[in-house]
Amino acid sequence: MPDKELSQRIEEVRKRVAFAAERSGREADAVSIMAVTKTVPAQRVNQAIDCGLKLLGENRVQEYLEKLPLYHKEDCSVHFIGSLQTNKVKYIVDKVDMIESVNSLRLALEIEKRAAAAQKVMDFLLEVNIGEEATKSGVLPQDLAELAKEVSQLPHLRFSGLMAIPPAGGDASKKEYYFSKMYQLFLDMKQKKLDNSDVRFLSMGMSNDFESAILCGSNLVRLGTILFGKRNYREEQT
Ligand SMILES: *Cc1c(COP(=O)(O)O)cnc(C)c1O
Repeated sequence: MPDKELSQRIEEVRKRVAFAAERSGREADAVSIMAVTKTVPAQRVNQAIDCGLKLLGENRVQEYLEKLPLYHKEDCSVHFIGSLQTNKVKYIVDKVDMIESVNSLRLALEIEKRAAAAQKVMDFLLEVNIGEEATKSGVLPQDLAELAKEVSQLPHLRFSGLMAIPPAGGDASKKEYYFSKMYQLFLDMKQKKLDNSDVRFLSMGMSNDFESAILCGSNLVRLGTILFGKRNYREEQT
């Protein structure tokens, strides 16, 4: 496949996202597109921002802190989406708009402490291990309600929805099964009307499955490869 210009790819992805949103019975702009920036040079991320993308997804604390001064993201929000160690929360608490990867009470308590010190309320999503995979992080579906109840006690956190990465591979119907299960959990959480919560985001869908995720109810898709091309990990280059 010939490499297309970034702006062209973004335009094409926008159209596909809008079309899927409409097919799912929602407005064309009902689904947010996140540009996942891991391994992508800051200058290229800036090009994406210039093309109108307004949301960045950051996986790694160190990489984000290095690239942050180079980004021109005045108009842009940043979500942390990678696995987050409690001892790193302090480095990002005042530098991101949302943490999508909260998977334990312990991590939530640390964010509460740091957000209080920074005098802010941190929006966050609970990450659900929807495939109940041993290798993946995230709260198990059967433990979600309990964790949601506990975190809703924390005044400097705002429970804003759910995030998931379903098991890789498998056929399309298997993916849909997990996405639909997530949508059901999302509706359950919304209905609870917990304290300190405004459940409004269902973050699921990546480059190879975002349309299916949208058709199942996702309203935030996290896209890397389809926007920026195949990732070039530093580890692999050395
Ligand atoms: C890398 C990553 C993505 C994007 O994956 P692509 O398949 O490249 O679109 C989305 N979500 C998370 C949590 C990621 O780490």
